[in-house]
Formats: sequence, C-alpha cells, structure tokens
Amino acid sequence: MNNKVWLVGAGPGDPELLTLKAVRALREADVVMIDDLVNPQILEHCPQARVISVGKRGGCRSTPQAFIQRLMLRYARQGKCVVRLKGGDPCIFGRGTEEYNWLHLHGIDAEIVNGITAGLAGATNCSIPLTLRGVARGVSLVTAHTQDDSELNWQALADSGTTLVVYMGVAKLADIRQQLIKAGMHADMPVAMIENASLPEQRERRSTLNQLLDDAQDFRLKSPAILVIGQVACDSQVKLDQLSA
Ligand code: SAH
Repeated sequence: MNNKVWLVGAGPGDPELLTLKAVRALREADVVMIDDLVNPQILEHCPQARVISVGKRGGCRSTPQAFIQRLMLRYARQGKCVVRLKGGDPCIFGRGTEEYNWLHLHGIDAEIVNGITAGLAGATNCSIPLTLRGVARGVSLVTAHTQDDSELNWQALADSGTTLVVYMGVAKLADIRQQLIKAGMHADMPVAMIENASLPEQRERRSTLNQLLDDAQDFRLKSPAILVIGQVACDSQVKLDQLSA
C-alpha cells in the first residue's frame, strides 16, 4: 500500500461500523490524517502511524483545504502510505472526489474506501426506513449549506416523494422549514432530528415541519445532526405498517 493515499470513510462514529478495507488501510498506514467528526477510537487500528488532526469544522478554527492537500502530497512523495480519514463516506459532502482528482493530477495513486454515511446510520439507529414500499420510493441526501449560497431546488425535492435527509442543517432550520412549506409540503410532515448518530451520545426527537423550530429549540439540537423529513419519520412503527400495508 506504499506511496498511495487512501481516502477512507470512517463511518458515522460507531467504531464497529468501519469496513474491513478501512481497517486494512489503517493497519498499513504510516501517516493518518484525521477529520474532527471521526471517532478517535478507531485509531486503535493504527498504533504504528503518525496521526495528524486536520479538522475543518464549519465556523471554527480550521485547517485550510490547500494545506491538507499539500501535506498528503508531501507524505505520499516521501513514499509513505497515507490514510486520510473522513467522517461517514468520503464522497457524501466530504470532498473525497475533489481530493482524489487533485492527487491524480499530481501523479499520486489514490483510492477511495466507502464508509457508512451519517444519514444511513442515523435513520437505522432510530428505526426509520429511508425507503419503504408504498411510502417512500427513494431518498435524497441534501445539504442546506453551500459555499456559494446557491439555493436547492426545494420545489423538486418537495414534489419528489422521496425521503429527504438533510446534512449540515442545524443552523438553517428556519430556511428549510419555510422553503419546504412554500413548495407545498404538508405542515404536518414528520421530521426526525438525529444528533450524534451511532455514538453513545446519540439523541433523537420526532417533530413535524410545522413544529420544527420550537421542537429543535426545546431539544437544544446541536451539530452534528441530520434531519430525516418524510412520512417514514413518523414516530410510530404501527403507523408506518399501516402506511405500507
Ligand atoms: N461525509 C459525512 C458528512 C460530512 S458533512 C458523511 O457521509 O456522513 C458533516 C455533516 O454530516 C454534519 O453537519 C451532520 O449533518 C452530518 N453528520 C456527520 N456525522 C454525524 C453523526 N454522527 N450524527 C449526525 N449527523 C452527522
């Protein structure tokens, strides 16, 4: 695995949700560069490696992307096996493909290792099926946070009949609620707020589009959290069974 950069998904937090391939890369790593949403417990798989924290939390002190990329390049050019550990899946709001392309452009072999994305793990841990026969025929993973402030096509999302999983939405709840109601989504559409999915600190709160702001405030919703918006997020399994019957 030498002289290669592995862009590895570390999963949502539960160390048991790592893939075997991720563990193999960690075991062989000389250098591990770790994002802040990654559970440090998984470093038990790479006691031999030099570990560098390169967190980039929105709004906080962060390591510039260009610096991270240069660091990966430097170690790879020294012939080191580099693992870049990212929360969830590297290619779901994780810039995995961007880094992969950049490394290839600079002549470095890179490989992406999938991880379980937070939306999947959060829904499953709260017994929410993201797709359900007769209820939700698809799922849309979206982020409410864009670098250029461009808007999502809320109308298309509201009309799609798919379950919406919103990443990075905590600071944008009012906007999400307003846009979806404006696009014709029912005010009583179920919403699940899931914080710290798959970790011992996981918390969840069921709400509706209408009640979202009050309930989020009452619940003191904090990042990292995802929202699951759709009929599948109604809080009673019995209701779900009826819906899909
Ligand atoms: N690549 C990651 C997402 C990175 S974007 C993945 O596939 O999961 C960061 C956002 O992911 C957070 O703001 C939050 O919305 C979500 N997130 C990451 N880990 C989470 C967790 N354990 N619980 C809930 N949301 C999480």
